[in-house]
Amino acid sequence: MSARPDIAPLRDFVVATTRLVERGLPEQQLMAAVRTELDKLITRDDWLPEQAARPHPEHYQQYLLHCDPLERFCVVSFVWGPGQRTPVHDHMVWGLVGVLRGGETSQAYVREADGTMTALGSPESLVPGDIVQVSPTVGDIHLVANAHADRPSISIHVYGGNIGAVARHVYDLANGAVKPFVSGYSSLDTPNLWDRSAQVRATLSGAAS
Ligand code: FE
Repeated sequence: MSARPDIAPLRDFVVATTRLVERGLPEQQLMAAVRTELDKLITRDDWLPEQAARPHPEHYQQYLLHCDPLERFCVVSFVWGPGQRTPVHDHMVWGLVGVLRGGETSQAYVREADGTMTALGSPESLVPGDIVQVSPTVGDIHLVANAHADRPSISIHVYGGNIGAVARHVYDLANGAVKPFVSGYSSLDTPNLWDRSAQVRATLSGAAS
């Protein structure tokens, strides 16, 4: 059995982001500050528990890593199997997508008044360390895909709500039809961020072991 990864970087991210949402900053300032924290989190790739890194043979997976008890933000691990992609969708809250492993493409869209779906520029290619932002104020509709046909990719997403329970939409590129969408999560479990016992034991020098 392999050793459990040290989850401290994720716990530190959750603590820092909780402090930031407590400040009640305007959305752009909050996103910029959370982005700095996410940047630190995805700089290393040794903390994601294996159960939140598993691809599914048919569908992309979204594993909840943490949800703020007041649902002001959540952290989710998205795992794409080879060639997998999301539908064209929106978020209805702010979001940051940071690539951890592999590579992804993100194509932004706008829905015109007559229902036409127009691609905004060409697909963005994202590699580990890259971060993109979405929100109803900066552009909220996109399609994200694994850039690789032969291996999984993983990104860490932060949203300004409990994203699995947000009423959202998917869009039909062919005719602009809009359908309601509530994503849910792929697992009933979240990682245990809070077993700090080893850290505390280490402070008890001379204590019986
Ligand atoms: Fe998205």
